Amino acid sequence: MSSKTENGQSGIRISFEFFPPKSEEAEQQLWNTVADLTEWDPEFVSVTYGAGGSTKAPTLSAVRKMIHETPFTTASHLTCVGATREDTHRVIDEFLAAGVRRFVALRGDPPGGVGSAYQPHPGGYANAAELVAALRERGDFDISVSAYPEKHPESRDTSADIDMLKRKADNGADRALTQFFFDNDAFERYHDRVRAAGIKIPILPGIMPIQNLTQLKRFAGACGTSIPSRLDERFEGTDDDVELRARVAAEVAAEQIQDLVRRGFDEFHLYTMNRSQLVSAVLERLGIQRKVDARAGAAA
Ligand code: FAD
Repeated sequence: MSSKTENGQSGIRISFEFFPPKSEEAEQQLWNTVADLTEWDPEFVSVTYGAGGSTKAPTLSAVRKMIHETPFTTASHLTCVGATREDTHRVIDEFLAAGVRRFVALRGDPPGGVGSAYQPHPGGYANAAELVAALRERGDFDISVSAYPEKHPESRDTSADIDMLKRKADNGADRALTQFFFDNDAFERYHDRVRAAGIKIPILPGIMPIQNLTQLKRFAGACGTSIPSRLDERFEGTDDDVELRARVAAEVAAEQIQDLVRRGFDEFHLYTMNRSQLVSAVLERLGIQRKVDARAGAAA
């Protein structure tokens, strides 16, 4: 579905998403995770940004460190909710000063959280499409946007979502990263509709390896992501067995990706939740070569 570059023999390309740490312990965990995942040689990584600027300082600090101290090609998420255009441009300036040239441009959730009524700031950008246009005017950045295979919870219907995605693509987005999903049929139907609407940018499936199904269910409801009953069946009896649960989680995510590969997709955005073990287990199952292995193979 998008051009292929070799990653070992799998042909699969990956990117990772992190969130900014809010405590010293979380900070340590993030950098341990980054160190562990470096060997998978992702196409790019991204760091989320709290809507309304709630994580501006930790996002900026994490992104700056990733750009300057890791081999990662790093994107910063950026939201425009609750901000005037001038505010948003000041934040963009701060990110540019930190060396950021790649953005994931988002509207962001309203202050009351998902499901509460959204009101655009009277002096701000009303949605992500307007933010993309503003970024494009500012410079030659790499811009990703969101996409919702199972519909954004606020959206009237899938057509409204696809209209918004088209506006974002028309305004200059380079790719879309999807909300996480587990229903590959729903994703494929959505992808067909996106292409039928004339949207040509790559749509990268967002893959969430399941650390904890019960917690995920609470979170997924708010995101509009459905949880197929087969997942309950797969995780049944794993509550008290950490090793078994980790194995099932890796199998489930790897099988989802393998099924998408069979359907012609080759590039995936993994939600790491700032943990490396499960992500690495998934990538191992997919037969993706670590960078060190790939180098050794090339030298042989
Ligand atoms: P848009 O693309 O502007 O809109 C999304 C959809 O909502 C549209 O398709 C449209 O149909 C519908 N919609 C928008 N406005 C309205 C309206 N007024 N009335 C009815 N329907 C409307 N949030 C963060 O705070 N920080 C992050 O770092 C972050 N990263 C994300 C990364 C990815 C890959 C994804 C998928 C989501 C992320 N989010 C993040 C969540 C996102 O901010 C929320 O889903 C938010 O509600 C919408 O932002 P958006 O950019 O998708 O909005």
